[in-house]
Amino acid sequence: MPAVALPSAEAERLALLRAHVRGNAEDRPGVYRMITETGEVAYVGKSKRVRTRLMSYFRAEYPKEKAARIVREAEAIEWEYQPSEFAALREELRLIKAFRPRLNVAQKRDARHLAFVRITPGRAPRLAVVRGPGAGERGGTYYGPFNGAGHLREALRELSTALGLRDCTLDGKMRFADQVELLDVPLRTPGCLRYEIGTCLGPCVGAPTARAYNQQLREARAFLEGATEGPIVRLDVAMQAASAEWQFERAAVLRDKKAKLESLQERFSRLRFAVESLSFVYLVPGHAGEDRIYLVRRGVVRAEHAAPDTPEAWAALASSIHAVFRGGPLPGAIPSHEVDELLLLTSWFSTRAEELDATVPPASFLAGHDAR
Ligand code: SF4
Repeated sequence: MPAVALPSAEAERLALLRAHVRGNAEDRPGVYRMITETGEVAYVGKSKRVRTRLMSYFRAEYPKEKAARIVREAEAIEWEYQPSEFAALREELRLIKAFRPRLNVAQKRDARHLAFVRITPGRAPRLAVVRGPGAGERGGTYYGPFNGAGHLREALRELSTALGLRDCTLDGKMRFADQVELLDVPLRTPGCLRYEIGTCLGPCVGAPTARAYNQQLREARAFLEGATEGPIVRLDVAMQAASAEWQFERAAVLRDKKAKLESLQERFSRLRFAVESLSFVYLVPGHAGEDRIYLVRRGVVRAEHAAPDTPEAWAALASSIHAVFRGGPLPGAIPSHEVDELLLLTSWFSTRAEELDATVPPASFLAGHDAR
């Protein structure tokens, strides 16, 4: 597509913005915001070299390149420097969460192949596969990230079936036997046979008590967190009973179900290990000596310190390390507000393997300092 000539007022505005960037921005890590005439933060970005990055917006070809479309909406460009690219990345995430800029869709696209298991909030929670916490999906408990959603979905369906948990999306219509007026209860499930065939406890018709449903949900959580094998054991018992009664077709169906749960269990076990291994002290050299130390546990920065240069600063850092890494492994679940940062750190360390060389186990870090 050929480049489009801009109206003169727009060309003048872009020339002024360009002159502002050229005269004031420095080539160091930072974040920037594109702000429209109405004051809307339309786009947030980060760069290792803010000036170079911002100048590139003015060389982009309109309408072919996204950068040109973004800068064309801007009435003002603001930026702040950060000590490092890593710090800029985290600040970019914070700003995106704060402003939800309309033009930042590409970021979401990057993580589109990643899936999470979510235990939904609210009455009669269910297990669902989602693509990270979207705008309308806050709350609940998350497990992940996983690569690809297909097999995960099938395995979760088996787990829900084994435990009688619902998998429908009728979130607002759930009720419990001990919580409803009798007249309020619908007589039939809405076009779903799971209650009738005994694979769902049927909260849509107020069949289970809240206690009975929540007990099954607790077992699902415990299974996903590696604390119980109950659903697999029960399938195994049923499978052996079917074989003993020469019901080989049924035994084969149960064997397949069991295999799906075993593979789910295996995926969760690998996940727990992978997330737990994202726990360390991370030393990041900063621009002009602004070095930082990040205390990362389970893929999330729990504390940040300037590189200590006095005994008091060392003591504060050591006490922070003890506080952050105290206790054994946390359960496998991830609170929804931590999912974005976990994704960010997973992507940071998987695309820059050399950064792992700057990480140290907390105990080694403390021992190294004590030995000085
Ligand atoms: S039986 Fe009712 S609660 Fe269970 S999945 Fe079907 S519609 Fe949902």
